Amino acid sequence: MKKIAKAGNRYAEKQISYGNKLKRNLIQSVKSNDSSSFLLRRKSERYSLNKKITIRFTFNSGPEQKTKAYSGEIQNVTDSGILLSTNIPISISTKIEILLPKTNVSFRGTLMWSLEEPGNRFYYGVSISLLATKSIFELLSIAPNSLLDNIIGDRRTNTRRIDPNPEFAASKRNYERRIKNRLFEKCIRFTHWDNYIKQNSYFYLREMSSAATPQTIVKGSKMIMLGSNNYLGLSTHPKVKEAAIKAIEKYGTGACGSRIINGNFDIHNQLEATIAKHKGTEDCIVYSTGYMTNLGGISTILDKQSIAILDDKCHASIIDGCTLGQIPLAPYKHNNMKELEKKLIKYADHPNKLIITEGVFSMDGDVAKLDEIYSLANKYGTAIMIDDAHGTGVLGKNGRGTVEHYGLEGKIDIIMGTFSKTLAGVGGFIAGSKKIIHFLKHSSRSFVFSAGIPAAVCAASIAAFEIIETEPQLRINLWKNINYLKNNLLELGYTLGETQSAIIPILTFDENKTYKLVGALEKAGVYCNPIIYPAVRKREARIRVSAMATHTISELSKALDAFKKAGKETGVI
Ligand code: PMP
Repeated sequence: MKKIAKAGNRYAEKQISYGNKLKRNLIQSVKSNDSSSFLLRRKSERYSLNKKITIRFTFNSGPEQKTKAYSGEIQNVTDSGILLSTNIPISISTKIEILLPKTNVSFRGTLMWSLEEPGNRFYYGVSISLLATKSIFELLSIAPNSLLDNIIGDRRTNTRRIDPNPEFAASKRNYERRIKNRLFEKCIRFTHWDNYIKQNSYFYLREMSSAATPQTIVKGSKMIMLGSNNYLGLSTHPKVKEAAIKAIEKYGTGACGSRIINGNFDIHNQLEATIAKHKGTEDCIVYSTGYMTNLGGISTILDKQSIAILDDKCHASIIDGCTLGQIPLAPYKHNNMKELEKKLIKYADHPNKLIITEGVFSMDGDVAKLDEIYSLANKYGTAIMIDDAHGTGVLGKNGRGTVEHYGLEGKIDIIMGTFSKTLAGVGGFIAGSKKIIHFLKHSSRSFVFSAGIPAAVCAASIAAFEIIETEPQLRINLWKNINYLKNNLLELGYTLGETQSAIIPILTFDENKTYKLVGALEKAGVYCNPIIYPAVRKREARIRVSAMATHTISELSKALDAFKKAGKETGVI
């Protein structure tokens, strides 16, 4: 019994300290205009609630209720109650009545929590169900720009709208809408990264102020870039830049509409023809991003009656495409052909099935066993889709990707790719038969209902494809750099994934170690990416390093020195 009671106490203590943290955050946000609590702050600004008002406390002690009036300030109004401050200590659970000045309006609530701040200031959370309170606007009216000055019309009864101050009328309407649900509460409570940010261990959204070249300026300092997908360094290739600049001069900046109605330049068609030729297919469709390509392509080709037999390490955009199309999934273990065959046997009689795999897996750098997948697909009468985002330009004698690597040109039904990696732009494509592409161009919602990519991106991508085909030296350099990095990292004692591409996963198996190592490398002037759950499985945390054709051996060797020091410091090696 005692044990249970102790455990209960510990639990209660934990809950209290967690609760106090939340409260402190709330108070802090009001005081400091902390942007993480933007909703509260916006409300408090808009309604300017730092007003002295009278608060009546009703004490429920004994048969006779005692009432006493004190003054205090409303710090904030949220959709679950009010944040008050006074200099009077009050005990929790006290019934409380808030009387608005110069009105007969009062609010009754219960004091749910309190927090003492230095200087004898007490903050109280008062639960008042404002949703159930008609007088909410009277509460808000204590603001200097009284909302009550604005009469909002009712569309149904056609009452006239008098908006002496339309901005406030709009605020009132917005507030009415917002207060009806708790939609933004999850945003306010989203504090997951706060501690990482405070401790300088936050490595997302790092600000780069120069191109994704081997040396780049990150957060104001020069760093060796080992985290970019600019595998051949084409984003700054003079021919690519020149093509983009010329296209801007000719076409301006944006396509300004969906290609299906008003945003289809000749250069979009030229790009699609270039890709179809490069990939050895009849035709091609270009979408605005790689993500949208998978989303729109997969959800249009497959449907509820189909089945997607997919590698279980497929990219999120593939999964999301299946989710959007409500497509039943039959995932098989990563690159495991026995498992794939089991699924194919299970669904042997299914008439609408598609095997989906990445060519080069984005977080592991290994390559799909496309030759075996192709034989199995033939054996069981299944079509194949390959997402070759990271294979295009890197694999194959002519850089045509995983399909060329296996000599399977013309044999894969759907080849997907993106411009955001080797092609150094933004956008995505599906290359396939004329019939498939024609169908997608008229049925794929992320194509039909989204604008075409800018002409500059089309021109840059056409130039990039030309370079991939005509400058094999870049690929030779890339492979030299990949091998140099890989061999030296292994020699230093790092555990690497079984990569066969420009993506080199350094396995740490632990989230904290990953952040520590990335942090130590950042300090030493080396940029690489922490990869944790949900991008990879929970115990597969890693650092993702990628080589570029344009790295010099001296840059890579400097980076390796940093890896040696940082690996030892953090205990990864
Ligand atoms: N597929 C794969 C395998 C990817 O790695 C990515 C990008 N990380 C995408 C699709 C989405 O491409 P984009 O970034 O061009 O939208």
